[in-house]
Amino acid sequence: MRTAGVVLLLAVALLPPPAEAAVHPSPPTLDPTRPAQKRILVLCVDGVSYSLVEEMHRRGELPHFYPPAKLVVTFPSLTDPSLVEILVPLGAPPSEGYEDYYFDTDQNRTRGGFFHRFSRARYIEGTFRELFHYHPHPVVMTLEYGLPVVGSWLAGHINLGRILHEFQGSPASLYLAYLDSTDSLAHLSGVRFQRGLLKRIGRSVARLRRRAPGPVEVFLFSDHGNGVQKYRRAPIVPALRRAGFRLKKTLAGPRDVVLIRYGLLGSALLYTQPGVEAELAEALRSVEGVGVVAYRDAAATMVLNASGRARLQRRPNDHYCYHRESGDPLALEPALVELDSQGRLSLDGCAADRDWWRATRQHLYPDALRRLWFAFEKHVVHPASVIISFQDGYYEGSRVLDALAALRATHGNLGSAQSLAFAMSTEGPLPPILRGEEVWSWLEPQVGPPPAPRLWQRILLPLAAVSLPAAVAE
Ligand SMILES: [Zn+2]
Repeated sequence: MRTAGVVLLLAVALLPPPAEAAVHPSPPTLDPTRPAQKRILVLCVDGVSYSLVEEMHRRGELPHFYPPAKLVVTFPSLTDPSLVEILVPLGAPPSEGYEDYYFDTDQNRTRGGFFHRFSRARYIEGTFRELFHYHPHPVVMTLEYGLPVVGSWLAGHINLGRILHEFQGSPASLYLAYLDSTDSLAHLSGVRFQRGLLKRIGRSVARLRRRAPGPVEVFLFSDHGNGVQKYRRAPIVPALRRAGFRLKKTLAGPRDVVLIRYGLLGSALLYTQPGVEAELAEALRSVEGVGVVAYRDAAATMVLNASGRARLQRRPNDHYCYHRESGDPLALEPALVELDSQGRLSLDGCAADRDWWRATRQHLYPDALRRLWFAFEKHVVHPASVIISFQDGYYEGSRVLDALAALRATHGNLGSAQSLAFAMSTEGPLPPILRGEEVWSWLEPQVGPPPAPRLWQRILLPLAAVSLPAAVAE
């Protein structure tokens, strides 16, 4: 059975990759009028933590790269919102949901999921994924989970080989590639096999540059981290039932809750009818393993847990306000003291976005206020009613995946281990820490302005803006 699976995986992996020049009528490219252009390979390795890359770089295992920058990504720390945020300058449209399986609030039903991935038309076209010149075959991506570790390892090395090969044969000056297997390897086996793939990338850089007729830069980044440790399922479902809620696929009554179960993740996405969010969050705030629960309430985002409750607001002048109603659920007291001592905190607990960034970027919950605010406001067409960030060591998700393999690492929560991705270049140093939205600004001086939006982007982006809350249209 396993041999048949490997053969199938190999066969599909050797199919032509889905993202070729023919289906990318206008991939991002360098300005052809600029002289002496080098070529740039931008490679996204899914789910590789800053901590792993920093350690490898320190040990000399990635010798051709400058030291990695910490990259603070979206909350939830999941691929879809994170890559949308990073690729917005290239015209990435908002994602339908936080994951490939999501709840469509307009149609009142769940959509996407496992089999959705088998269709390139539904999974890649019209989404941020289409911006990659190389994207692994969606069928291979799905099968990787059916053959734990072996499938991901094999697909990772095959896809990496193809990326390096196709970059060399491509006419594109700026070549974007995405490698998914690093994430499934982390989920299934921790960092051991991720390290092997990264070492191969490190070795390949020298060879790429030696063989290229002109200068080549490699820019490597990830979309989120992965916290490696022992994990337990958080008992949120029994807690919801005790509070009188019913888990459903659609929302018919006020006690109905749709819980998205896809992957095994450090965050959970729940949907209810409007007006039920506060009661749902109250039922979850003290459950074992719950770190923070958040929901939208009029013009505020409420954050609560066993230790307190706070109201988060964003002002039109890009100031964020943290009003504690009880306790300090985000543990921001030290940041408040620091901002106050610098005269940067107003009497009502508000400070400028850049000041919060400086005060909280190295926090247990990096850049928490902005990330919690945008979790409901940006990057996703159908935002959740309530989002849980679990404590490190706890998860929620698919029972099927639970049966397939033990969870060795995951991501999704607000904490640094799961949220800190990385970015590094062979060309020069980056700042020690930056936000996902800033990645492209480090490439733009070299690659010029982003290309004009394609037809589907010109149609989809205004539609998405209409269906998102008004606060996005800023
Ligand atoms: Zn993952």
